[in-house]
Amino acid sequence: MQAIFIDNIQYLIDGSGNSAATSPAGYGMRIVNGHIESVGASVLPQPGDQHIDASGLVIYPGWVNTHHHLFQSVLKGLAVGINERLFGWLNQVTFPRVDRVTEQTLRAGVRLGLAELLLSGTTTCADHHYIYHRALDPVMADLLFDEAEQLGMRLVLCRGGQLQQQVNRDYPSRTQPETMVQYQNDIKRLTQLYHQSSGDAMRRIVVAPNTPTFSMTPNELKSLADFARGLGLRMHSHLSETENYVEFCQQTHGCLPVEFVNQHGWLGDDVWFAHMVHVTEQEFELLGATQTGIAHCPASNGRLGSGIAPIWQMQQAGANISVGVDGAASNEQASMLAELRLAWLIQRAATRRPDHITVEQVVRWGSAGGAKVLGLDQVGQLKPGMAADLTMYRLDHVAHLGLHEPIYGPIISGQATPAMVMCQGNVVVKDGEIPNLDMQSLTESVRQATQHLA
Ligand SMILES: [Zn+2]
Repeated sequence: MQAIFIDNIQYLIDGSGNSAATSPAGYGMRIVNGHIESVGASVLPQPGDQHIDASGLVIYPGWVNTHHHLFQSVLKGLAVGINERLFGWLNQVTFPRVDRVTEQTLRAGVRLGLAELLLSGTTTCADHHYIYHRALDPVMADLLFDEAEQLGMRLVLCRGGQLQQQVNRDYPSRTQPETMVQYQNDIKRLTQLYHQSSGDAMRRIVVAPNTPTFSMTPNELKSLADFARGLGLRMHSHLSETENYVEFCQQTHGCLPVEFVNQHGWLGDDVWFAHMVHVTEQEFELLGATQTGIAHCPASNGRLGSGIAPIWQMQQAGANISVGVDGAASNEQASMLAELRLAWLIQRAATRRPDHITVEQVVRWGSAGGAKVLGLDQVGQLKPGMAADLTMYRLDHVAHLGLHEPIYGPIISGQATPAMVMCQGNVVVKDGEIPNLDMQSLTESVRQATQHLA
């Protein structure tokens, strides 16, 4: 039995969002076999426990990032796409390069993306990996699990897929789509190899077509939902990111996007959508009644000029809210801490209700909210029985000097460095560095991948 005792906890937010953040002077936390056994003022260490001193550090749950495209980590800041909106950016940045992704460029991008996440305090990543086409060896996606395991992170592989081409003239793809049989067979293969159903799973598979309105026919969408639920898998996709998505859906299918996916079995507490920027009040009700999940991606939505998602209204209606960094080709900084700081600011600006968009609320979106969306019910809160996924932040950046209440520091000032990150009780970041990562060789492989995809 491996036991760890975190001593002298002064600042802790547990991720539940229910209680106001407190500064619990003198708390202790005992972690046994990767899970939190107890936390509080009366918790005492046992003989033989490994001690960690939390004096002066701020403890938050490990972040749960619910929407990413890790391969894009080597496509940051391409000049051709820097001032484009979504469709122009897709046509200039990602689509022309998808069929040039090799195992080496993919590995470099995935390793870099996971490293960025870890160093911002993220312990779980849902990667919407969508670069599948007929000429690609699907086994390349297996390296995502390999890389996540080496760094000690939880990985949820949202297996993208596209079964038809150029339905929307504004949204062309240049690669040959897969067939439904290829797509479903690969999901079955991945599920058998990797999928864990436990509430603290380190590996999950999700059925995740690129976009429900463009990637396949409506009948195929419905049968894919039945297929996913038959295997006990969750479902994920992009939806309502820009006005064009909504217009295309209305012109082609005669209804709003949320109505369209509802007609094809794609709402529920086992489904979550990224973006959801352009959503009407009548759609809020459908999302809320079905407890559908949302991945809020404020940096990408800002970068591409897409707009601000009505997150608070969707939460009030009953939808489950989480946060994702989206791919680094439309963010350029895949830090969950930066994303959450932006969510805190932008949702205050949008709602004009700083009393609703509290730090505790934002921490919940980034932790327990994300875990709920992913169905990881033993992840995302610093409470007994939960997986020991946590970050202990140092507040020693110049931005933190003058700060009166340290417990809010990582969100309100940003820039905090993790003194330590744990995932399932294992130390995955120590003193701002990742023990299992050779940064020099990563830098060189990223340089080569960036050159290859220039
Ligand atoms: Zn995306």
